[in-house]
Amino acid sequence: MRSKILVADDDAVTRILAGEAIRSAGFDVIEAEDGDVAWERYRTERPDAVLLDVQMPGLDGYAVCERIRQLPGGQATPVLVMTSQDDRASVERAYTVGATDFITKPLNGPLLGHRLLYLLRAAGVSLQAQQTAWRLSQAHRLARLVQWEWDPRLERMRWGDEWEVVFGPVDGVPELARLVHPDDWPEVEAAIASGQPHELEYRILQDDGSERIVHHEAELAMDQLTGTLRLIGAIQDVTERRRAERRVTELAYFDPLTGLPNRTYLRRYVQRAVTEAERHGETLALLALDLDLFKRVNDMLGHAAGDELLNQVSRRLTESIRHDDLVGMVPMAGADVPESDTLAARLGGDEFIVVLRRLRSPEEAGVVARRILDAVGQPYDLGGSEVLVSTSIGIVTCPENGTDVDTLMKNADIALYSAKDSGRNSFQFFNQAIQRRAQRRAEIDNGLRLALSRPGELDLHFQPKVAIPSERVTGVEALVRWNSPVLGRVSPAEFVAAAEETGLIVPLGEWVLRRACELATGWDGTQKDLTVAVNISGRQFQQPGFVELVAKILRETGLSPSRLEIEITETVVMQDTTNTQRVLRALKDLGVRIALDDFGTGYSSLSYLTRFPIDILKIDRSFVAGLEGASSEAIVSAIMALSRSLSLEVVAEGVETAGQLSAFERYGELDVQGFYFARPMDDVSWRAWLAQNSPRVARPTAAEAASRASPPERSHAPTPRNVPRYDETPLLDH
Ligand code: C2E
Ligand code: CA
Ligand code: CA
Repeated sequence: MRSKILVADDDAVTRILAGEAIRSAGFDVIEAEDGDVAWERYRTERPDAVLLDVQMPGLDGYAVCERIRQLPGGQATPVLVMTSQDDRASVERAYTVGATDFITKPLNGPLLGHRLLYLLRAAGVSLQAQQTAWRLSQAHRLARLVQWEWDPRLERMRWGDEWEVVFGPVDGVPELARLVHPDDWPEVEAAIASGQPHELEYRILQDDGSERIVHHEAELAMDQLTGTLRLIGAIQDVTERRRAERRVTELAYFDPLTGLPNRTYLRRYVQRAVTEAERHGETLALLALDLDLFKRVNDMLGHAAGDELLNQVSRRLTESIRHDDLVGMVPMAGADVPESDTLAARLGGDEFIVVLRRLRSPEEAGVVARRILDAVGQPYDLGGSEVLVSTSIGIVTCPENGTDVDTLMKNADIALYSAKDSGRNSFQFFNQAIQRRAQRRAEIDNGLRLALSRPGELDLHFQPKVAIPSERVTGVEALVRWNSPVLGRVSPAEFVAAAEETGLIVPLGEWVLRRACELATGWDGTQKDLTVAVNISGRQFQQPGFVELVAKILRETGLSPSRLEIEITETVVMQDTTNTQRVLRALKDLGVRIALDDFGTGYSSLSYLTRFPIDILKIDRSFVAGLEGASSEAIVSAIMALSRSLSLEVVAEGVETAGQLSAFERYGELDVQGFYFARPMDDVSWRAWLAQNSPRVARPTAAEAASRASPPERSHAPTPRNVPRYDETPLLDH
């Protein structure tokens, strides 16, 4: 595009001459015949240069020049003032109002053209320089970067003007010594004094008290003037970047809810601590904590209250381990785990780990555990409701119980479970016995999984129930048996409990139910309407679809529903009463009968008996065994009275002796189950037994009864591996 030149002169001849010269130099021309027009045309058309006569009607040339200079963007326009020869005063005045240059009248055409060309080129260069500087300062501002230079003569830094833009106003020259955080200064000072290239990160204190983190880089550059090497560099404000990195670190290493270190952090910390402990022969302890009944708080008061509780627990935990500096302190990305003697971490849910280092003795861990139990056991205020929770703690020490994170954590967990078993609000050190128990648990768990997938190891035994006084068999209870190729016979009390925990009880229970129904349909002749009672564990009972499963199995095996009894315990009934009620109703609708097992051992009120559709009470064998004692007798007679008034049938469990039998005989009609009449038998033996004991059951001789009740096979001789063994007595041992 061609440049536009404004020519302002009230003399038309000058305008024509100047216009000619300018056009022939390759520019366009705008003309103005007085100062006001000149100013107007300048503003609207923005010429690239102005040729101004000083004397004009209206605004004179000086006034126009002044206005141009005040207009934003007007400073850069070359203004050439036309004066008469020898008018030095005008020339000086022209310069003071900002004229770029002057030219004398009469005009020399070619000279004018050259002059304009030169002025425009110079203006372009200066504009470019200005723009470059401006862009650079914008870049500095955006990058939050300030340049500096070490002045060896003055022994101080010279700062770029960007300082104020980046760090805000400072009084006088920014003095690094004054601005750097005192803790960081020695390092900074030493680096600069070395005169060598370096790179640092430190904090700068601002006047308002806030801190900025800066990255500082210095290198050597040749001074063009003196030919010597000197330090130049830049500091960059990296506060935001570090904050973001810190946030990432927090998320990676800390639990967002409580602010405690998380599992990742814990593992790194323990790894380090173990190495240190081994190197210096120190004792290290890991405490695994778990809140008892935390789930209940969550369910009853809501998740917000649960979160609040976890926060308060975390606080008490950190307080009671009096630990120095760790919690809340975030290591810089990539930094090592800081040294500290104690650590509390949250693994998730209500599980915490406490690490204690440099203990004088393992017992010290017990002292801390007790302190934690006391602290965590104090009441909590959760939005107005007072809540009590207790804790269980399992303790391991290193190197005794392991020398790597996984072993230590696993063993701490084992000790924790043992603590839970031995009552709430207690702690337990890991030891061999616990380990053996855990080991056996694992073996049972693995073995049972296999047993379920390959037939033959599992079996059902049946124990008859005998009605008195008629002494006719009314039915049997199905009892599961497991003969493990590895563990031998395992007591159902043991493996059923384990299966409850792992959830294996669901497939196991289904197998039992189906097998019991299958076998019961095969009992023919006089045995046609004998009932079969199946034990159903809590977890299986609460399983969605349980009723449908029962219905399906009855359908598939063809067993009449009236021949099936479901035995559940008091605790199951009390667990989730609404659901229990619904399930029991549905079972009743199928035509199945319900027995309440182990009756009398629970702590629940008896009023629920009227609310649930129960048919049979099974008096727990602990009362039967204690029948010679006065209190047991009172309980049994109370249960009998209760069941009569509610029209419930009664089964007395665990009757072993003629004495116990006769104690029941005075109550009239009821069923008796126990070793006195028969031990549990496999299907074949049970059928043979039934054939022999129809229509009436033969009473054993005194010797027979004694051997059934306490057969030599049931002695608890320790097995080679010193684990309890479960031995089934051979059947029909007469
Ligand atoms: P339970 O339901 O109370 O079963 C009765 C237990 O008492 C059986 O032990 C039986 O062998 C034993 N018993 C019977 N008469 C006498 C006696 O006169 N004296 C003594 N001392 N004991 C007697 P078992 O078979 O070892 O079963 C133990 C527990 O394991 C059962 O107690 C039951 O809670 C559970 N269980 C057994 N089979 C199953 C099953 O198929 N499913 C579920 N969920 N649990 C089962
Ligand atoms: Ca039972
Ligand atoms: Ca029982």
